[in-house]
Amino acid sequence: MTHELTIALAAAPFIGSFLGLVIDRLPSGRPIIFDRSTCDYCGKTLHWRELIPLLSFILLRGRCRRCNHPLRVFYPLIELAAVVVVISACVAPSGWLFWCSILLGWCLLVLAVIDHRHLVLPDTLTLPLIPIGLLVAYVINPGMIHHHVFGAAIGLFVFVGIARLYALLRDREGLGFGDAKLLAGAGAWLGWDALPGVVLLAACSALAIALLGQAVERQPVATREIAFGPYLAFAFWASWLLGPLAFDH
Ligand SMILES: [Zn+2]
Repeated sequence: MTHELTIALAAAPFIGSFLGLVIDRLPSGRPIIFDRSTCDYCGKTLHWRELIPLLSFILLRGRCRRCNHPLRVFYPLIELAAVVVVISACVAPSGWLFWCSILLGWCLLVLAVIDHRHLVLPDTLTLPLIPIGLLVAYVINPGMIHHHVFGAAIGLFVFVGIARLYALLRDREGLGFGDAKLLAGAGAWLGWDALPGVVLLAACSALAIALLGQAVERQPVATREIAFGPYLAFAFWASWLLGPLAFDH
């Protein structure tokens, strides 16, 4: 495990940089890889020395070398978050499941931040989680695969049902179908019987943060549009790492 952890920890800041690019560029359809990074303020193409994760930000004291404008803290934060994903994945069993867990965590991190920013969960990230989750579940325990297929189906249908009901009652869209696809992914990875716990944990944490936000900003909860994806992603991640189902083999 220590060997795997060292590799994962060394790679995490670089992967984090890439995840930052995905978060920045995927929603607007910009090419993710074949587009050099530039300063957001003066447009200067960044040298490789200015793109070393975490280190460059510290060495440049958080400012562009040409225009001296403060650089966005977004990238160092995502790079740190990618490291936190690796550290939290230590709870997962070692071997291939450790790497699967990290990939899942990074994917959920990207989804959470994109939804927080744009109120959208891109299909390109949510949909692959369903077959990959089913595959992982099958390799862990082929005898339990029906629980996971059922989970994916329930996740999708229940959430679409809730979204329809909500739209009917409140006369506006409260929950997107992206949430349904993410919950279907959770069903595929965790099995159907983990889903009530995932939804409950997501709803409770969303409510807690909303009430906290209300206390700080004095803005009523009901009038604000809340991205549910980050909470769903958090509940999915927590249930995968700590839930009794995922490692029940
Ligand atoms: Zn600049």
